[in-house]
Amino acid sequence: MAQPAVIKNQDLEVTIQDLTYEGMGVAKVAGFPLFIEDALPGEKMQVHVLKVQKQYGFAKVVKRLTDSPDRVAGADGAYIRTGIAPLSILAYPAQLKFKQHQIEELYKKAHLAIDVLPTIGMKHPLGYRNKAQVPVRMVNGELQTGFYKKHSHDLVPIEDFLIQDSKIDHAIVVVRDLLRKYKVPAYDERTNRGVVRNIMVRRGRATHQMMIVLVSRTWQVPHLKDIVEEMTLALPEVTSVVVNLNDKRTNVILGHKSKTIYGQDYLLDKLLGSEFQISPVSFYQVNPVQTEVLYTQAIEAAGLTGKETVIDAYSGIGTISLTMARHAKHVYGVEVVESAVRDAQANAARNHIKNVNFEVGKAEDVIQKWKDADLPVDVLMVDPPRKGLDRSFIDAVGYMKPPKIVYVSCNPATLARDLQLLAGFGYTPKQTQPVDMFPQTQHIESITAMTLN
Ligand code: SAH
Repeated sequence: MAQPAVIKNQDLEVTIQDLTYEGMGVAKVAGFPLFIEDALPGEKMQVHVLKVQKQYGFAKVVKRLTDSPDRVAGADGAYIRTGIAPLSILAYPAQLKFKQHQIEELYKKAHLAIDVLPTIGMKHPLGYRNKAQVPVRMVNGELQTGFYKKHSHDLVPIEDFLIQDSKIDHAIVVVRDLLRKYKVPAYDERTNRGVVRNIMVRRGRATHQMMIVLVSRTWQVPHLKDIVEEMTLALPEVTSVVVNLNDKRTNVILGHKSKTIYGQDYLLDKLLGSEFQISPVSFYQVNPVQTEVLYTQAIEAAGLTGKETVIDAYSGIGTISLTMARHAKHVYGVEVVESAVRDAQANAARNHIKNVNFEVGKAEDVIQKWKDADLPVDVLMVDPPRKGLDRSFIDAVGYMKPPKIVYVSCNPATLARDLQLLAGFGYTPKQTQPVDMFPQTQHIESITAMTLN
């Protein structure tokens, strides 16, 4: 490993060579990598070294000497400092290439010969998020909503979140102003005092329903009745208001208990012609436009003819399961969050779909059970969280030997690892299709289909 070729507080001129998977520029000084925010490949700049560690360091831009042709002029620094939209400095076509390239690099390192297709992007890659979770804190004596500066708990007040549905941005400002008006104490994480910690808002893109969740340290929220009354007057789309209790000293946003204090217990939305209810703690894809693209790709990749038995592992509220059930003989879903499974069952009934079963449990456990019961699986659909598939899950797949696997991934690093393991059981995919679910951010979603050799 290269010795640190720089020291803290040093000023120097560098040329950016690469972008990290987090969207930071990389410059090499005598082989020693420096990570720099707001810096794009090809750009020359004067930088100031902030921090030096054994194998890499961090620097900040003092003056940019040249601009990349892919740089978007006038990008707002707050989106980069907070990590809300680290790629917003990069032109959208270059973002799509960046994501394709990231997967290619990971495959190369894992010795996987899989083609990565060009990323399917959005026509309007802004204002797409149907969900916001923003912290509520006191900043200089005033209650503020916004986002933390990266790697810190310093709140940067923000009203326009760039990638969120603007109706959601507006709702957050309305709620913030009401909390101010009624002098509701903001949570203070140093003392674990105060009341409202976070505001979560979800809006159904198709239904225009809105759910507002106040995450609170106490069930008691001062003037809650007045606040809800004014909130629903100011925001006619609101169909439910929920208080979620989180009294722990933790970075986890939502607590385990919720109480509906106005309207429905869930939000309704529609995807690909089906209607879905979504409880506050259930997972729901944040980019509904691209979710339809992703699911359409997944169904095509599964090659369903109406005769297949399908497992949908990590099934959430059943969005993929129910969409697939329309083209399959039977779909078995498994999901660890109980309220999500209840949503999935209600969603099956809501859409008059009978050829599905949902089980609560860990995918790695339930798949064992299905394997032991000799379930005649034709297609295994997986859509795991960022940590990817559990080793025991992959082993069970090796025994079960489904003829086809469709892998939807939100983390190409664990995808590459899992594909290597699955290759050991005879699954060798030809290609991966990235679908941009998270424009302006570094996150990469993709879909890979494979058949048993
Ligand atoms: N396919 C769904 C959800 C994907 S997100 C959709 O497209 O909406 C991943 C889901 O996996 C989440 O709902 C999460 O609660 C669930 N999950 C996480 N770990 C799990 C595990 N070990 N077993 C089963 N489900 C799990």
